[in-house]
Amino acid sequence: MMATSRPACQDADPELFFPDHELQDHHDRVVSAKSVCSTCSLNVACLGGAILRRETEGIWGGYTPAERFALLRDTRRLGREVGFAVQQLDRGNPYRVRPDDLLAVVHRLSLRGWTTERLSVALGTTPKAVAKVHQRARAAVACLAAMKNAEVQLDMAA
Ligand code: SF4
Repeated sequence: MMATSRPACQDADPELFFPDHELQDHHDRVVSAKSVCSTCSLNVACLGGAILRRETEGIWGGYTPAERFALLRDTRRLGREVGFAVQQLDRGNPYRVRPDDLLAVVHRLSLRGWTTERLSVALGTTPKAVAKVHQRARAAVACLAAMKNAEVQLDMAA
């Protein structure tokens, strides 16, 4: 039989992970819950499962509901058809990337070896802004893998 990891929240106060918005220390509780999740060996699977189940409450995998919503939106943006934009930029042609396509364009060009500096020049933005988009793209890629994994686990359990 395979050994299973223990959730780091197993002995924690459940209210930490479902903090009441009315509480004055709501923010502190969220920070504490996230800190527990950051030590949990199951956090990727936990996040993938929560997104797959469309959990609308609580901290799962270190993400609040609003953060999970943003992450899910980024996974969709990652899949946008941006071949033409990528081709134009790769040829050195000026091209105005639509805000909704930015994540996918940065991701695709990074895979082609574009540096943050090169991307920032081509996109007319700062390296810091590009680095942020790149970070979101990486989180979205990891999230897609976690969701896929959670889906496989669910199929196996069915
Ligand atoms: S990642 Fe999930 S299982 Fe792990 S501590 Fe956080 S809520 Fe619990």
